[in-house]
Amino acid sequence: MGVSWDPGLMAGRATREPGLLRHFVGGEFVDAGRRFTKRSPVTGEPVFEVVEAGRSTVDDAVAAARAALRGPWGRMGERERAEVLRRVADELERRFDDLVTAEVADTGKSVSQARTLDVPRGAANFRAFAEIVATAPTESFTTVTPSGGRALNYAVRKPVGVVAVVVPWNLPLLLLTWKVAPALACGNAVVVKPSEETPASATVLAEVMAAAGVPDGVFNLVHGFGPDSAGEFLTRHPGVDAITFTGESSTGGAIMRAAADGVKAVSFELGGKNAGLVFADADLDAAVAGSVRSSFTNGGQVCLCTERIYVQRPVFDEFVERLAKAADGLAYGWPADEATVNMPLISQQHRRKVLGYHDLARAEGAQVRAGGGWPTFGDARDGGAYVRPTVLTGLGPEARTNREEIFGPVVHVAPFDVEEEAYALANGTEYGLAATVWTRDVGRAHRSGAWLDAGIVWVNTWFLRDLRTPFGGVKASGIGREGGVHSLGFYSELTNVCVDLS
Ligand code: NAD
Repeated sequence: MGVSWDPGLMAGRATREPGLLRHFVGGEFVDAGRRFTKRSPVTGEPVFEVVEAGRSTVDDAVAAARAALRGPWGRMGERERAEVLRRVADELERRFDDLVTAEVADTGKSVSQARTLDVPRGAANFRAFAEIVATAPTESFTTVTPSGGRALNYAVRKPVGVVAVVVPWNLPLLLLTWKVAPALACGNAVVVKPSEETPASATVLAEVMAAAGVPDGVFNLVHGFGPDSAGEFLTRHPGVDAITFTGESSTGGAIMRAAADGVKAVSFELGGKNAGLVFADADLDAAVAGSVRSSFTNGGQVCLCTERIYVQRPVFDEFVERLAKAADGLAYGWPADEATVNMPLISQQHRRKVLGYHDLARAEGAQVRAGGGWPTFGDARDGGAYVRPTVLTGLGPEARTNREEIFGPVVHVAPFDVEEEAYALANGTEYGLAATVWTRDVGRAHRSGAWLDAGIVWVNTWFLRDLRTPFGGVKASGIGREGGVHSLGFYSELTNVCVDLS
């Protein structure tokens, strides 16, 4: 099949020649195009050779998807498709260890995180959307006709067609399956383009699709980069009917321009500059522990991570001291070590960007309360893309450090006095993805949801997800909502049928 695994990757080190990752088009693995090298974020060693899709491979993938819609897949009912999704979930669970290896090899995250967060969510996404599509009703209305008779209006849900799925590198399998599962639940065929930084778990997913009996052409995979590569060829392709994208807001803008030509539907889950608000009445132990998680999980490389925390003045000093101590205490280790919390950033290029923000913050006048710079290990990890979890204070809301998405383990903490001020500070960026509020005041807990410009407001928790709930961002953080029936809204078209009953 497609991928041959190096067991050394579980420890973040390659022990043999890099395997080759290929496209998956019309049910076949395809080796066509130039090759590029995927390097381990842990050591910098090559871990995979990856084939890059040119225009003709993307053409083939879109054609295979279109053909699949005309085949048995296009004639299946919702319950049959739900059954296919459950088989995919079963197969994902059977390939659990390979998927963990793939995620760790690509991202350098800890094996324990991949086992508890990333990989289980793959199967969970397929099970959730199998259930949602099999039980979601459509509307019907009885209408009085001009002659006093009755007409029945009802909506029929149909697939959109060929859906392009373009995703980033931070939670590769979780984010990919979050879109592929509802797209297939609604009867579409997909062409997916994973990030060039994380090609491996998408390749295993292609093997899973074949083993689960998903008809050829329903799931297609093309590897490559964004501009002038597979990403752009796919999103500009006239045979694509809709584009679902997760990534940077600026990339969303480029894809929107590409989508304008064919007036294609888009669903965008984009960047964030998320705020945490800690009120003086909060359970401070919970607020500190929660803020450590929300700032540093996955190396701060989660779109939902907190990069700004506003703390009510009476508890500000204590909070900063405790957060800084906790950040300095987060454990380093090889990905396979059970205690490892810190992980490398995805690449040297991203590390340079994050270290550039350390320099910028200092130039803007910030105090570095924890971290700053990078750790040294005295072993192969010195070739990796590590930075230290960093806590900053001292900057105002106008500082670039407080306005631009850094997407690394960097958080700035500032004081506030009254509730309205906290909301104004939190809302003061161009983004609006998520916010986290720590308080024991029930009224404030509910008020915050109304006042914060964010698609998701968590109160006294963070990253607690129910897949039935709406997910997305406001302002520059996205367009549309996915999750539960909202995903069905994007991945299907409704035809209203009006029948005069007389
Ligand atoms: P990115 O925008 O650089 O790349 C995302 C994907 O788009 C990759 O597959 C890339 O190859 C492709 N791409 C890049 N340019 C393209 C183009 N012109 N045309 C078509 N495809 C193109 O993002 P990234 O660096 O991989 O991921 C980090 C970003 O993702 C952060 O901004 C983060 O906040 C965001 N993100 C958002 C969510 C969310 O749910 N809102 C979730 C995860 C990540």
